[in-house]
Amino acid sequence: MLGRAVLLLFLALTLNPLVNAQEVRIGVLGLFHPREVKLRASGKEAVVIHAAGQTFVLEPDSHVAASLHVSNNELLFEFGSHVFRMAELRAAARNNGDVSFLITVPGKVARAYRGRLEVKVAYGEVVPIITMDLETAVASAVAAESDSDASLEALKAQAVVARSYFIAGRGRHHDFDFCDLTHCQFLREPPAQDSSAAVATRETHGIVLSYEEKPFAPMFSRSCGGHTRTPAESGLPGSAYPYFSVLCEFCYKSPFRWTRRLSLEDSALLEKGESGRLAVDRRLGWNAVPSNTFRSRQDGEEMILEGTGQGHGIGLCQRGAKAMADEGGTFREILDHYFPNTSLMLLGDRVASPID
Ligand SMILES: [Zn+2]
Ligand SMILES: [Zn+2]
Repeated sequence: MLGRAVLLLFLALTLNPLVNAQEVRIGVLGLFHPREVKLRASGKEAVVIHAAGQTFVLEPDSHVAASLHVSNNELLFEFGSHVFRMAELRAAARNNGDVSFLITVPGKVARAYRGRLEVKVAYGEVVPIITMDLETAVASAVAAESDSDASLEALKAQAVVARSYFIAGRGRHHDFDFCDLTHCQFLREPPAQDSSAAVATRETHGIVLSYEEKPFAPMFSRSCGGHTRTPAESGLPGSAYPYFSVLCEFCYKSPFRWTRRLSLEDSALLEKGESGRLAVDRRLGWNAVPSNTFRSRQDGEEMILEGTGQGHGIGLCQRGAKAMADEGGTFREILDHYFPNTSLMLLGDRVASPID
């Protein structure tokens, strides 16, 4: 069956070049609240900037950078001796296609990307938005979301999940489809071509997870604590796919355990389920309450929480997937286990088609 799927996949890729045409719009670097960014070419091609009705070129290897600041809720663009005010700026290759560039938030971070860039201002911050090839986005998300020691089949399962999310979960933000944080999918630079994240992405090229023949945006978390959860159990709305609580053998036998102390006020927020947990994390910092699976008892003015798992625990469990892959499980078996009643489909130019 797998052989047939591979053949169909091969045929579809050969006969359907448009499978490559899928793109994703991602807002990046919001974590750093940039009021200034610098842009330079990072590949072998020039980066052509379209701003204020003019064109400016960042030549490769020239080390010349364009600078973008927020000033009075507009973008201030500085290039050499030129300074312009504008609402937004665009950059791409000479042929208007994808190009490689480096964005630096001075003193904080520098990241290389490939795609076409738009820069806007929102809430007093510079907002870089990158339209990137779907497969580049998938590889970047797999690299950022997975442990480097995960086996290839687990990474392939993660790649299918990441791709499906990008295809079916669009529109999560006002100015772009996805952010680069765990709110959507964690995403950094594209990984090296020979990295396991890139290999896992290539080996599942165009494959998405579907329910009733429609791709859906699958959820995943770091570890489930023994059983995966349903959105209803976590106080979350239903979705296109009815999640099931499935036994996760590895987490069941050796759950990731944690203990936390919280104020009575903070712990009361947790009664709301996942939204309460995220509210506490926003107040106290990431991982303040690792999951929704816990027992609590009062100790004076504090609550002691003893729990298992990391993350919302819905859908794919990354820890369990890694264990299944280590024991010889394939990415299909992993996805079948955590997403019962689903099938795999191959993206085409207009519709996704079954590959089974
Ligand atoms: Zn987001
Ligand atoms: Zn698990």
